[in-house]
Amino acid sequence: MNRIRNAPEPEEGFWLPFTAMRAFHDAPVLFERAEGMHYITPEGQRVLDMMAGLWCVNAGHAHPRVTAAIREAAGKLDFVSSFRMSHPGAFTFARRLLDAVPMMGRVFFSNSGSEAVDTALKIARAYHRARGDAGRTKFIGRAKSYHGVGFGGLSVGGIARHKRDFGPLLADVFHMPLPHDPAQRFLTARPVQDARWMAALEDILLVQDPSTVAAIIVEPVTGSGGVYPPPIGYLEGLRAICDRHGILLIFDEVITGFGRLGACTAAEALGVTPDIMTMAKGLTNGAVPMGATLVTPPVFEAFMAHPRGAPEFMHGYTYSAHPLACAAGLATLDAYQQEGMFEASARIAAPFRAALLALRDAPHVVDVRCCGLLGAVDLAPRAEAPGARGAAVADHCLAAGVLVRAAGDMMVLSPPLVVSEAQVEETVAALRRALAAVE
Ligand code: PLP
Repeated sequence: MNRIRNAPEPEEGFWLPFTAMRAFHDAPVLFERAEGMHYITPEGQRVLDMMAGLWCVNAGHAHPRVTAAIREAAGKLDFVSSFRMSHPGAFTFARRLLDAVPMMGRVFFSNSGSEAVDTALKIARAYHRARGDAGRTKFIGRAKSYHGVGFGGLSVGGIARHKRDFGPLLADVFHMPLPHDPAQRFLTARPVQDARWMAALEDILLVQDPSTVAAIIVEPVTGSGGVYPPPIGYLEGLRAICDRHGILLIFDEVITGFGRLGACTAAEALGVTPDIMTMAKGLTNGAVPMGATLVTPPVFEAFMAHPRGAPEFMHGYTYSAHPLACAAGLATLDAYQQEGMFEASARIAAPFRAALLALRDAPHVVDVRCCGLLGAVDLAPRAEAPGARGAAVADHCLAAGVLVRAAGDMMVLSPPLVVSEAQVEETVAALRRALAAVE
């Protein structure tokens, strides 16, 4: 195989997430260092990281501000619980984050996107209960969504393969269809709204009784499931239906947050405000694990109607608002804002789209979808071997020094916001060579 071979064999003890273990040990991929747009292997080969790690290193790797902030924080306060106490950095970061996402009023910290989603689902149910509406317990998710791997996020997620092995999930969860028409391929802009998508939601509500629904959760742009931008007017339609029925709208912005669409959030970029928003990944530039669940002021205030003294929300994590994560998050926000990275992302989005769309005449390519600095190139699967062609293309690119992600036969790109046009061109050239080389 055309894989990068690394000198030291990886230890056998580590069970890797979402990884075919035996295949990994046959052809291990190891990176030892990273800087800016690149990973560096133990042998010193530089690999252009067109995935921003795993959709998270939006400011580029080892950003000096972030690295310095973590170093300083580690020497100052290693840990303090946020159960009935905390540290000043948590409040400073919360304030700065809410200044960057001004439609939201409070932030609850966790350690990952999965935890941020499960927190959001619990907030939604507890919110209705606090308002005397405890019968609202149902959730509506969407086909192809990814909301992490906790039992809550898995339940509302829309990828069957992720659920298959784990038995019963949350009851009372329903799924809308993905708002995507496969006949519309190689689109150069967001698709137009189609009455079918809202009708499908109305159908669910007709059967389920909207007064029993706690929340609808969507990724504003479907990420891991395949970079499907929302049709124009779609998110507005969800907002209107939620408002009509007293249902909370949750945006999972774990991928779309922090510059992917040229603004701090997709909510800002697309002009639709949810009641609850989840974030992670780019929150700390991937440098320290952290998740965040943001709520609007009315959602928070509903909890404050509880009697004084007792905790209003019986939920939290040992590492909520960890000092290192707060320091990393604050420095990351500084980097994004002071170095104009969201604007840089907005500027490069059009050349990025044009470069990817130019692959439409390459072998095996059946669709290209882009939204901001997110891109997917769909390949026709090999008969009898779905996923094999995608994996082969990713292997070729990696051997050529470019990291792209194969999700089955879909090649996914989500580069750091600081990617240059030349690096986009380099990636497309590597993809084109790989597509020509694979069967
Ligand atoms: N939500 C979305 C939209 C995601 O893309 C992801 C991860 O990719 C998650 C939640 C889960 O995040 P984590 O892997 O940090 O738990």
